[in-house]
Amino acid sequence: MSKRDYYEVLGVSKNASADEIKKAYRQMALKYHPDKNPDDKDTEEKFKEAAEAYDVLSNPDKKARYDQFGHAGMSGASGGGAGGFSMEDIFSQFGDIFGGHFNFGGFGSGFGFGGSGSAQRVNRGADMRIRIKLNLQEIAHGVEKKIKLNRKVACGTCDGTGAKDKNSYTTCNTCHGTGQVTRVTNTILGQMQTSSTCPTCHGDGKIIANPCPVCHGESVVNKEEEISFKIPAGVEEGMVLTVSGKGNAARHGGVNGNLLVQIEEIRDEDLIRNGTDLIHNAFVSVADAALGVTIEIPTVDGKAKIKVEPGTQSGKVLRLRGKGLPDVNGYGTGDLLAVVNVWTPRKLDKKEKELLEQLAKSENFKPKPDSNDKKRALQNLGYI
Ligand SMILES: [Zn+2]
Ligand SMILES: [Zn+2]
Repeated sequence: MSKRDYYEVLGVSKNASADEIKKAYRQMALKYHPDKNPDDKDTEEKFKEAAEAYDVLSNPDKKARYDQFGHAGMSGASGGGAGGFSMEDIFSQFGDIFGGHFNFGGFGSGFGFGGSGSAQRVNRGADMRIRIKLNLQEIAHGVEKKIKLNRKVACGTCDGTGAKDKNSYTTCNTCHGTGQVTRVTNTILGQMQTSSTCPTCHGDGKIIANPCPVCHGESVVNKEEEISFKIPAGVEEGMVLTVSGKGNAARHGGVNGNLLVQIEEIRDEDLIRNGTDLIHNAFVSVADAALGVTIEIPTVDGKAKIKVEPGTQSGKVLRLRGKGLPDVNGYGTGDLLAVVNVWTPRKLDKKEKELLEQLAKSENFKPKPDSNDKKRALQNLGYI
């Protein structure tokens, strides 16, 4: 199951202040509190989801990482991932959130819930998700990408109102212009009053009687736009970057959704990625391995020459420091590992055969592996 956007979970905009985030979480926590919704798995999940979102968005470091890399930035050892939240963890946050004096048991005067039910509902446009393919050079240096995107934007004709003109409105009959409908239900804990957005006018309090002829009252129109955004160096397959506010516009004003950019790597046959390291398989002839040779290997930006010493065994790893990929969080750059493979000829003519038969009799051609030779294959396989 893919995770929902943390801002969406708390119903706040990406520019929300720390106080707004705290307030939004407080309302969520009250709404989905398990004491209020006993044995309701769905609500419990929402409660945990809100706690996780708040854990990240209330912490400046985690928030910065999340803003840059989305959920992908929250996983891994250094990410301080918010997964595995227990109920105890969540309740331990509450002293901070509710100022220590909130009492879930005391329902004497009905549910007051943080002062009122007049929470400002943020109308938020839908996120858009795209995939972007990057080659090794782009991953190594970072890249600015320009893409054409067909997204919903505020209608220019009606200025995003959906109305033909100022006189196009009538007051909503369902909520009588308040934009909110209130429902009172009796529970074993007492009377519960819940306010929600009016389903008829979607919180506007008014109805458009005379819709804009271009957007037909929708207030948004589809438009192809060119969007450009920067991808930092060192990103990996599957990472999701959030381009803030470049998703769909919200209907009837509000906050734009985000553009979520999922990274796909174009695999390079000759430079295989292993984290920040790159691996290259170098092939040398039996003669070159014995006599020594300088070979040219590919790097991200060109070629490099490396020396293969006389008597080099197959499987030997030659390391070019700093010729790998940068770490996405700026923790240095990996290496390029050239693995020497001694190429054994698959076919021989008569002359070559005679020469090799002669060499095979020579004492130096008989294998005399030392302990390093015996270890190498196991080391390469990661056994030792
Ligand atoms: Zn209404
Ligand atoms: Zn319009």
